[in-house]
Amino acid sequence: MASGYDLLRDKFQTVQWHKLVWNSWCVPKHQFMGWFIAREALMLKDKLYALGIAADDLCLLCGAGIESHSHLFQTCPYSRKVLSLFDSLAGTTTPDDLLSWIAARKFSDLKTGVLLCAAMALYYHIWMQRNRVRIEGILLRPEILKEVIMKES
Ligand SMILES: [Zn+2]
Repeated sequence: MASGYDLLRDKFQTVQWHKLVWNSWCVPKHQFMGWFIAREALMLKDKLYALGIAADDLCLLCGAGIESHSHLFQTCPYSRKVLSLFDSLAGTTTPDDLLSWIAARKFSDLKTGVLLCAAMALYYHIWMQRNRVRIEGILLRPEILKEVIMKES
């Protein structure tokens, strides 16, 4: 008979990059949100709408797509402009793929740290921009958000 722990463990997939997220280089608030984002654990409007909590499921950043993890951190036109910082480097920008890409490379500790900090900062700021729109109704232009991220990471 499986224990409760075993049942939960099967439910949550083990990821190879967890040690990368919890490192000593990145800003802790970026790591904290990066962990939720990479595990697709944020309560986005697709989930809230399905629960009857949100009035709609439209993306707050572009107003066109359904706000889900894959939309917000992969296909959203607004996010794509911000995530383009990584397009030419890794060829992917999804949190899971990007962290797996970094983990698979044998970069120096310094280069790994810089890449991780940049990735965590990107995802954190997209999430915070989404919340800024929801709470304050303010949407920064993607170019401005990219400048903020470059300064902070
Ligand atoms: Zn969108």
